[in-house]
Amino acid sequence: RFKAQRETRDYQASDAAHHIHAFLDQKALNAEGPRVMVRGEGLYLWDNDGKRYLDGMSGLWCTNLGYGRQDLNAAAARQLEQLPYYNMFFHTTHPAVVELSEQLFELLPDHYSHALYTNSGSEANEVLIRTVRRYWQVVGKPGKRIMIGRWNGYHGSTLGSTALGGMQFMHEMGGMLPDFAHIDEPYWFAHGGELTPAEFGRRCALQLEEKILELGAENVAAFVAEPFQGAGGMIFPPESYWPEIQRICRQYDVLLCADEVIGGFGRTGEWFAHQHFGFQPDTLSIAKGLTSGYIPMGGLVLSKRIAEALVEQGGVFAHGLTYAGHPVAAAVAAANLRALRDEGIVERVKDETGPYLQRCLRELFGDHPLVGDIQGTGLVAALQFAEDKATRKRFDNESDIAWRCRTIGFEEGVIIRSTLGRVIMAPALVAGRTELDELLEKTKLAVDRTA
Ligand code: PLP
Repeated sequence: RFKAQRETRDYQASDAAHHIHAFLDQKALNAEGPRVMVRGEGLYLWDNDGKRYLDGMSGLWCTNLGYGRQDLNAAAARQLEQLPYYNMFFHTTHPAVVELSEQLFELLPDHYSHALYTNSGSEANEVLIRTVRRYWQVVGKPGKRIMIGRWNGYHGSTLGSTALGGMQFMHEMGGMLPDFAHIDEPYWFAHGGELTPAEFGRRCALQLEEKILELGAENVAAFVAEPFQGAGGMIFPPESYWPEIQRICRQYDVLLCADEVIGGFGRTGEWFAHQHFGFQPDTLSIAKGLTSGYIPMGGLVLSKRIAEALVEQGGVFAHGLTYAGHPVAAAVAAANLRALRDEGIVERVKDETGPYLQRCLRELFGDHPLVGDIQGTGLVAALQFAEDKATRKRFDNESDIAWRCRTIGFEEGVIIRSTLGRVIMAPALVAGRTELDELLEKTKLAVDRTA
């Protein structure tokens, strides 16, 4: 009875009365009414009208193990019974967080040794900003304060993470701070002009060098970027980009910080996206796939060099979050990492399901009149819409073509996301061929109906 009540109740009116939704015009949303999701199993979601959707976005790039995992639920229940809360303040710790870290650092390259946990990706990046500045104070270079991010990069919605990100409409809503700077995104399709992707990748990376010289290397703390840009349109940099960025950071003693919030934990077929692109960051911001979204948790991973300075020379570290390393979140994260590892899920994305999705997308959309470019690796991909494929002319900013495609997708029972003239997909890493075939078929229907 309870279930039936939940599914038939009108949630939309109460939702409109009480909520400000993320990144939407509230009036427009209320006119249409949000879809009310009530249940999930595997890759599928059901709304309160009983309609079924294939979730091609893993929620918000996070439910990497899919919905309804009993092992994750059981881990949470066990921890709630045994010790629902304790913390890492004032000389205490607890087994759940210690066991999580043991597992995490087994997966990570030997370069990293310490983590600070948070509740979200935004918080991970807040912690990053202060930790990086503290590191430079400790090693005797307190002038190094400026954080360089990228235009159109996304690092979260809190104040520091918004300033670090390059979303101008977010900056305009009171989200900019001193000591933050930005360089261009490596988006060849849009900005590459006559350059080859390789030339363009190097050109974009050299902007970092120019910016460091303009600001003075003695003032620059870090360059922070997503290995591939997610919310800003799923931008995959040309291969020449990351090696050059790494060279520049080393040459000018600027920390290289990777935001792995969506790229981490198997999305590209490697455990972390920086491994796919072949560079070695000094810090990793993590969240989302850490717990497969079952419970909020994020963190900042530090290289041995940074951790050693903070531990050996740093004295009191003036920072703490009540819920950092929360036992229930840590238990779920540990169960999630165990499942990813023991079930060989990341390897399957690399060797089997990832190549399958990428090959099928190119076969289905390579000659499609609306699709100018297809990017992606592993289980993450973007279709770039183009008004003219030959000249790489995009639809203008006012066009809602990608949004329309995503809305038609909803009608067809598939959830894909639209962002800046692209539709993007990032299904759960447990997707098999049957689910990927359905994702491809329904996305094709949606794109065809949009054309
Ligand atoms: N960093 C990246 C790359 C993200 O994509 C996001 C969210 O989408 C965040 C940070 C912020 O994470 P959260 O929404 O958990 O605060």
